Amino acid sequence: MLVDSRVRGWLDVPHAERPERLTRTYQLFERAGVLDVLTRVPAREARVAELELAHTASHIEAVRAASARGGLEWAGPEARTSAGTWTAARLAVGGLLEAVDHVVAAELDNAFVCCRPPGHHASADQAMGFCLFNAVAVAARYLQGRVAIVDWDVHHGNGTQEIFYADPSVLFVSLHQDDLYPKGFGTLEQRGAGSTVNVPLPAGTGDDGYRYAFEQVVAPALRRFRPDFILVSAGQDAAASDTHGRMSVTTEGFRAMASETKLLAEELCGGRVVVFLEGGYSLDHLPLCNLAIVEALAGLTPSWERDPLELDVPTVLGEAAKQAVDAAVLAAGL
Ligand SMILES: [Zn+2]
Repeated sequence: MLVDSRVRGWLDVPHAERPERLTRTYQLFERAGVLDVLTRVPAREARVAELELAHTASHIEAVRAASARGGLEWAGPEARTSAGTWTAARLAVGGLLEAVDHVVAAELDNAFVCCRPPGHHASADQAMGFCLFNAVAVAARYLQGRVAIVDWDVHHGNGTQEIFYADPSVLFVSLHQDDLYPKGFGTLEQRGAGSTVNVPLPAGTGDDGYRYAFEQVVAPALRRFRPDFILVSAGQDAAASDTHGRMSVTTEGFRAMASETKLLAEELCGGRVVVFLEGGYSLDHLPLCNLAIVEALAGLTPSWERDPLELDVPTVLGEAAKQAVDAAVLAAGL
């Protein structure tokens, strides 16, 4: 986990993507005692040459210049900059690269990167949807091998898809709410060079639907691709109490996805997996989901058996979710 107080004050305006997403997560981690058993790695600012692995020079300069002007500005659709943006956005990317370096060097088994802003809507030359630089895309290029990206944010990772659409060396698997945001992205027909696998899911899919999607699509797609490294765009906005989606996933759904990803990494690439926080805007649920993910990655005893929020969610695999997953299996030729 990476914690850096330099990003705490950035973009502290009434908005969903706010500093409390991280400070509340940190407080919960502290109270649960997990900070005592995790290795904490300081973030660093990504260099411009590293950002250029996935972004155009003009996009990088536009974000830098907007940040230097200091006021609140729109950098793209639903993406804003302010005085601290240039530092925070480079710390989020550099934090992920630092975690990747530690895992490649076998100094850490795996890592969870808790930074902001998120990145998966940012394309090569466009900020979008709270995202300025696509940290996971930069990290995939930085790794220079066969990289699998699993994106379970409730929104489609259109920026990541676009960056690797013609690149067969990077597998992009996205589980997201069908036709949510951005409109027109994440369909079964969008397959790129064959290494884009979209799994659009119906509202209310729930833990069992996500488990089924992992078993039927994510695991076979990763086994077919045989990655050297796995990156996760982990958006916890599929959580049942998150107003940005309607997917009814509980802490146990996120714990299961993190556990399954860890097992796949152990089977396929020496356990090398780094999980990067993307979305997740429920200040009550996000910290709990983040803790469940970290407990799974670190092999810690779960702090609870059932989601502490005790929300009313589906408890079986629904027919609509099953059909959506089965259609994705067919579309991906799995
Ligand atoms: Zn999202």
